[in-house]
Order: sequence, then C-alpha cells, then structure tokens
Amino acid sequence: MAVERTLSIIKPDAVAKNVIGEIYSRFEKAGLRIVAAKMLHLTREQAEGFYAVHKERPFFNDLVNFMISGPVMVQVLEGENAIAKNREIMGATNPKEAAPGTIRADFAVSIDENAVHGSDGPDTAAQEIAFFFKENEICPRTR
Ligand code: UDP
Repeated sequence: MAVERTLSIIKPDAVAKNVIGEIYSRFEKAGLRIVAAKMLHLTREQAEGFYAVHKERPFFNDLVNFMISGPVMVQVLEGENAIAKNREIMGATNPKEAAPGTIRADFAVSIDENAVHGSDGPDTAAQEIAFFFKENEICPRTR
C-alpha cells in the first residue's frame, strides 16, 4: 500500500457544531496524519470553483450556498491508502445510509449538510490539494 495524500474539508455544519477536534481524532485513530490545515470562510467563487464538476447538478446552488454559510476547516491527510481510508471513515454521502460509527453517521443530518468532504481518487486528490495549498504549506512527517 502506498502512502497517499487526500484533501479533507470539515464543512460549515460540523464547524458550527464545534466538532473539529472530534473529527480530527477520527482521522488520527485511523492512522491518518494532518500535514496541512487552514480555516477559511470560502468565497462564492472559491466554492463554485471547488465544486465545478457538479455545476450542472440540481443541487449545485444549494451546495455552494451551504459551503459559504460559515467557516470550513480544510486539511491534507497523509497515510497509507489515505484516499480510501478517509472515504471509509467519512461514511456514505447520505448520512442516513452511512455505516454506524462513521463521521457522517455521527455528525451529519442530511445529504446536503453532511459534515465532511474527502477526495474520491488520486487525480481529484492532487487537484483539490493544489486548489487550497501550495507545496511549501504541506509538512510531511519525517519522524
Ligand atoms: N450533494 C447534495 N445533494 C445530493 C448529492 C450531493 O447536496 O443529492 C452534495 C453533498 O454535500 C455532497 C456533495 O454534494 O457531499 C458532493 O457530492 P458527491 O456525490 O461527490 O458526494 P461525496 O463525494 O461528498 O460523498
């Protein structure tokens, strides 16, 4: 298994619920290291750019409005199989279908306010990390 990096966002609903630390703890318990992080209040342009792949979907405007409704916490997670591992601990997109003990099952209420984002593959991970972080803002663990 290769060491990978993935982009994670704690969305405005979870930041408002004050569970950043609890979600970080889930990452760490899964063996994922936080190697870059920043809190941001996204602009409409940033949110539209980040979710550009969904711009023809019926939920696009609501998604953008939700993502700019409050601050988000954006982080790069690093670890073995980080992309799939993060998706696994996040749970299904719809929290009602998310496995018990996953982040979305525990902290999200609906498909449109579902607590976290995680890259879904190596290409999107690279693209999404570059959307938020310069290479010199990422601190790989050396010890
Ligand atoms: N989304 C939504 N309504 C839907 C489907 C998706 O609001 O019917 C939002 C939801 O916040 C989701 C995001 O759009 O997390 C991106 O959708 P995707 O299918 O990529 O799910 P994810 O990768 O986040 O699990």
